[in-house]
Formats: sequence, C-alpha cells, structure tokens
Amino acid sequence: MAKRDFYEILGVAKNASDDEIKKAYRKLAMKFHPDRNPDSKQAEEKFKEAKEAYEMLSDPQKREAYDRFGHAGVDPNMGAGAGAGGFGGAGGFSDAFGDIFGDIFGSGRARGGAQVYRGADLRYNLDISLEQAANGFDTTIRVPSWDECDTCHGSGAKPGTSPTTCGTCGGHGQVRMQQGFFSIQQTCPKCHGTGRVIPDPCTTCSGSGRIKRNKTLEVKIPAGIDDGMRIRSTGNGEPGMNGGPPGDLYVEIHIKPHSVFQRDGDDLHCEMPISFARAALGGEIEVPTLSGKVSFTVPEGTQTGKTFRLRGKGIKGVRSGFPGDLFCHVLVETPVKLTDKQKELLQEFEQLTAAGGAKHSPQSKSWMDKVKEFFE
Ligand SMILES: [Zn+2]
Ligand SMILES: [Zn+2]
Repeated sequence: MAKRDFYEILGVAKNASDDEIKKAYRKLAMKFHPDRNPDSKQAEEKFKEAKEAYEMLSDPQKREAYDRFGHAGVDPNMGAGAGAGGFGGAGGFSDAFGDIFGDIFGSGRARGGAQVYRGADLRYNLDISLEQAANGFDTTIRVPSWDECDTCHGSGAKPGTSPTTCGTCGGHGQVRMQQGFFSIQQTCPKCHGTGRVIPDPCTTCSGSGRIKRNKTLEVKIPAGIDDGMRIRSTGNGEPGMNGGPPGDLYVEIHIKPHSVFQRDGDDLHCEMPISFARAALGGEIEVPTLSGKVSFTVPEGTQTGKTFRLRGKGIKGVRSGFPGDLFCHVLVETPVKLTDKQKELLQEFEQLTAAGGAKHSPQSKSWMDKVKEFFE
C-alpha cells in the first residue's frame, strides 16, 4: 500500500514551521487518541499515521531526509535515511510521545510529586474438604502484613539521622529531560519518585520504613463454594508506595478429593457397590449423603451401571442457593472367596437359571443371537 505524504497527513504545508507541525499533530492526536476512541480500528490507524508523520517531521534530520528522498529516506526497512525506528508497532503509544499525552490527558501522576503505586494483590491458597465447602465455615488464616518499623518509626533513616530532599529532582520525584524543542518528564532515577533520599538507612528495615510481620485474618467460607473460587479481602494485600492504596488479598479455594463423592458443579456423584443377590432381588439399601445416610429401594433386577438420582442431595449452590442432586451409580459386585456351601448353592442356582432359559438373562440372549448371526 502506498504511504501517504507526511505533510498531507498532518495537513500542513511543506514549509511549515516546527510549531505548526506540533500544533497540527496535537490536534490530530487529540481527535484520534485510542483513549478517546477505544473500539475504533480506523482511529487507531489514523493515530499511528499521525504519530509517525510527526515523529519524522519533528526531527530536523529525518525531515531533511524525507524532503530529499521521500519515504525511502526515512523508512527503516529501506536501510537508508536517519534510522528512525520503533514506530507503527503494536503498543507503540507510550514511547517518545508519552509526554505530550501526559500533558493532554494527564497520566494519573501527581504533578510535581512522587509517583503513587497501588500495592500488589496477594493470593492465599486454602485447602478445604468437600464437607467444609458444602456447609461453609469460618476459619482464620495467617497472612503477611507490613508494620511501621519500630526502630525508625517509618522514616527509614537510622535513628538520629533523617531523610533529605533528593538533590537530583529537588524533591519533585520527577525530572525533566530536554529533547529537541520539548521536554520529557520522567521518574527521578535517584529517589525513584519519592522525592527523598536516605543517606543513612535504618538497619532494621533496610531503609524501607516497614517490616514484614504476620497477621491473622478471619475468613468466612460461604456454603456451596467450589474449587477455584476466590474470596477477596479488600486492602489486605501488599501496601502501596508513596501513599498509594494497598492491594487486595485473594483467598483461593482448593477442595481436597473426597473418598466417596465426586463433585460436578452443585451435583455429587458416588459409586454404589451392591451384591448381585441384592441387585437381583431388589430391596432397601443405605446410601451416604453429605448430610447423613438415607435409604432407598432398588428395584428387582437392577443392572450394574444403573444410576439413581436423589434430588436435592447434592450441594447447595453458592450462587443459586438451590441444592444439586446426588447421582448413585450402581456397581454389581461379583462375590469372591466363596465357601464350599456357597459354591454349591450357586451351582444349583446356575442350573435352575440355565433351565429357565433366556428370560432370566435377556442381555446374554441378545448377545448370543448377535454372535450367531456374525458366524453364519
Ligand atoms: Zn527502620
Ligand atoms: Zn529525586
């Protein structure tokens, strides 16, 4: 695609002054800035285009190269010209032009003061049992906390000394660097934006003014909470810097595997082994639930793999407030380690069953039929 002329993009004459170029660019940048056009691809393109044009025309060397050779004179891909670079790429909104946007839009920085940072969030992994998750409970956890250092009372300076105003930035936390006709403001490299330096740091806290301790927090785990859910404890993360707010603490729930139940959302599943005699005869059996045993009747001729659904015996949803169901999966167990007497009875039973034919074992019958067809 052919590139548009840089002067045309900015809407200025070939002999425009630096000031006119800057004004034209500011106007376009205000109009097409991504902050003002959050979802517009077109605005983003226009913004990048204007930015590139300005980058070229505001630099006397690049402008000269462009005037003489056109785009080839300044295109880094052409390997010629003034060696421009770093434009047009993704996320290219915060480079050399950040200062202009700082002026126009404000960057959340306290002007003439130290940069304020919110503290980092913390995560606490809490392992709980399925019963605890189902019923909810209150617990206490130990988390790191930061207290004012006793030795220096938070100043970070050795007792008897005190922090001094940073000489590099004069206490502003920001320094201005002249670059061409405009200046760039950046965080003071000496004091990292605090505006103060500590010539003689406190040995207890290494000059940070605070020491790490542990504190106990009470956490309410709501009934029905599921694996991976997080509970936020506002303000209990790491402290902020330069008066910034603290981060939050997130308690992340991990539910330990249960010996009987598997959880699926608000439903529970369990396997239920029953003897083959019970499966054949049917009758009342006891089933475990999280709130105690319940009994129900399995019908005569229950097959292995059959699932019974016990409504409302699952977990009460933390969001829905309604209980899920319990699914019991029948597993018919073949008896093992039989006595002679048991074997004898089973032999007799088998003969009677075989004599009765297909009606006792419909699945075997249909399977045998299929096998026969297969061989014929
Ligand atoms: Zn200290
Ligand atoms: Zn400084």
